[in-house]
Amino acid sequence: GNKIRNAKLVLLGDVGTGKSSLVLRFVKGQFVEFQESTIGAAFFSQTLAVNDETVKFEIWDTAGQERYHSLAPMYYRGAAAAIVVYDITNAASFTRAKKWVQELQAQGNPNTIMALAGNKADLLEARQVPAEEAKTYAQENGLFFMETSAKAATNVNDIFHEIAKRLLQG
Ligand code: GDP
Ligand code: MG
Repeated sequence: GNKIRNAKLVLLGDVGTGKSSLVLRFVKGQFVEFQESTIGAAFFSQTLAVNDETVKFEIWDTAGQERYHSLAPMYYRGAAAAIVVYDITNAASFTRAKKWVQELQAQGNPNTIMALAGNKADLLEARQVPAEEAKTYAQENGLFFMETSAKAATNVNDIFHEIAKRLLQG
């Protein structure tokens, strides 16, 4: 059939990890080197066809700054999916990502599909977070994991596609 499934999706993670860039790549197919930082949160929507069904993502791109932390539950509560983003060249951003996962597990909806995105995978020479470490962490915590690059357009559509597939299965 041609059903449309609406799905609220939130991106969480440290400022500068590339959340807005992932959204811009997914929604518009673009990348900018000097992406402006997000204030509060920004909303986007994008549809994705999976087999003969359509998922309409309602995307909340959050800021990531600590001063907006208290707003985060508004975005992740009731979310069908969450993408927690870190930057593979920044170990502190991986630590922060794990804190977001803990918060989602404690305060979020247990049915929320959670993805872990190790972004900036094009910057291999500056890597601080081994892919294996993130993969193991994701497996142990019920997330699926992909390294992405908003810049090189690697695994960006794929991560949304995988979420859509899981939503339609659930
Ligand atoms: P946000 O604060 O998480 O929304 O991060 P932004 O999307 O604003 O990105 C922060 C900076 O990282 C910007 O200068 C982007 O151009 C850059 N950036 C984002 N994604 C990538 C990526 O995949 N590779 C590289 N090399 N830079 C990226
Ligand atoms: Mg942003």
